[in-house]
Amino acid sequence: MNKKVTIVGAGLVGSLCSLYMTKRGYDVNIFERRKDLRKEIITAGKSINLALSTRGWTALKNAGIDNQVRKIAIPVYKRIMHDKKGVLTEQPYGNDGEAIYSVSRAKMNVLMMDLAEKNGANLFFNEKCIDVNFKTSSTTFENTKSKNQQIINSDFIIGADGTFSVVRKKMIEKYNHSFNYNEINHDYKELLIPSAKDNTYLLDKNALHIWPRGDFMLMALANLDGSFTCTLFAPKEGKNSFQSLNNKKNIEDFFKEMFPDFTKLVPDLYSQWNLNPTSNLAIVKTFPWHFKNTTLIIGDAAHATVPFYGQGMNCGFEDCRVLDELLNKHDNLTNCFKEYSNIRKPNGDGLQDLSLHNFIVMRDKTADPKFLLQKQIEKKFSNLYPDIWTPLYSMVSFSNIEYSKAWKIGLKQEEVMQTVMKIPNIEKVWKENQIMEKIKSLIIQ
Ligand SMILES: Cc1cc2nc3c(=O)[nH]c(=O)nc-3n(C[C@H](O)[C@H](O)[C@H](O)COP(=O)(O)OP(=O)(O)OC[C@H]3O[C@@H](n4cnc5c(N)ncnc54)[C@H](O)[C@@H]3O)c2cc1C
Repeated sequence: MNKKVTIVGAGLVGSLCSLYMTKRGYDVNIFERRKDLRKEIITAGKSINLALSTRGWTALKNAGIDNQVRKIAIPVYKRIMHDKKGVLTEQPYGNDGEAIYSVSRAKMNVLMMDLAEKNGANLFFNEKCIDVNFKTSSTTFENTKSKNQQIINSDFIIGADGTFSVVRKKMIEKYNHSFNYNEINHDYKELLIPSAKDNTYLLDKNALHIWPRGDFMLMALANLDGSFTCTLFAPKEGKNSFQSLNNKKNIEDFFKEMFPDFTKLVPDLYSQWNLNPTSNLAIVKTFPWHFKNTTLIIGDAAHATVPFYGQGMNCGFEDCRVLDELLNKHDNLTNCFKEYSNIRKPNGDGLQDLSLHNFIVMRDKTADPKFLLQKQIEKKFSNLYPDIWTPLYSMVSFSNIEYSKAWKIGLKQEEVMQTVMKIPNIEKVWKENQIMEKIKSLIIQ
């Protein structure tokens, strides 16, 4: 008889995971707390857009759906930094043709749910998980409309229910798993740059735009309809914070002073500001990510992170690919889930370290000429010695190297570059052979 799997949450990761499970011949039921997103009109630009990169694509390809996703993805080849005078500086993300991809989270979720259903999963909406019996592998759902409860038995349960996962919460309560929820001091708010009248783009659509300003920053990614979804990240309290931006005048003055070129593109800035919520950002750590052979957690439920490396979804997709590989490897589910926990947890931690690190890079360092020079030097060295040096950004975004390994190598590279950047007149001599040789000697030490 086919194995029966219950997936809690029809978000991006739950939907992709179902595709892997139906491909294995399992009977898959997905229970989602919200109503069916597909029955609402999805307006582009009204939702977060996400950067999809290589490890996400690898997982989509293995599930056989990369080509469908490609149709709603916009390639992003570079960062463009906007300074306070509106002067632009470009920084390519990788080598020629290498890109991350901008996708609308809502459009992507709708597509993934359609594909999940088309491939045999049953989707149930307005069904909120309220309890899990880990010993009997049964899940209790409450219908959010009728309040009726039902218990679903299956061979195993996959908790893909996001940052505030009930599956994880119950596991922690019942089995004393380790848990840490850490909200950072910055919140975010979305804003929209509209399309031009003829639905063309007011900025370069193939770039991620950043307005780096030290303790706060604004960024923008293109949507398919000519608009850009933008996100302001700023401290909760203090100078230039969400708390201090509290009336029309100081909000408009702040934008005019800090982001003048952006402000010219957004005539209804103040009404957007009032309409769009301010949301917080948090890191979730827990261990283990499974209970025996009955339950595991995946995606944000296991490793929610801050969005600054654009990797939360990519990491969740990678969880699905790795789980599938482990199911191929093991006949025994207990061993399979144990190995899944053990090998994915360091990568969840690695991603969280990388994400916090990249916040500083994006909001601060991308405005620093010395940092941009450092990246140019690294690129030259990496082109010369590709076997010895892959830039950290490329390891994370353009490869499937484990996050934990990428982070470790990245720390070593940073140490080397700190020494190199101290060489007198580095801005003049950086192209010389002796600099390249110096880097080589330091990195292979
Ligand atoms: C501002 C921002 C920008 C981001 N940018 C990027 C990016 O550029 N690239 C990237 O890779 N990632 C990015 N992320 C992260 C990405 O959005 C998440 O990692 C991803 O959505 C996680 O998917 P998930 O399916 O695990 O969780 P979710 O998307 O949260 O889905 C969980 C699902 O479970 C359902 N659910 C919750 N509780 C229950 C319950 N009790 N019962 C039943 N169903 C339930 C929810 O309704 C939801 O549908 C960003 C996040 C933010 C906040």
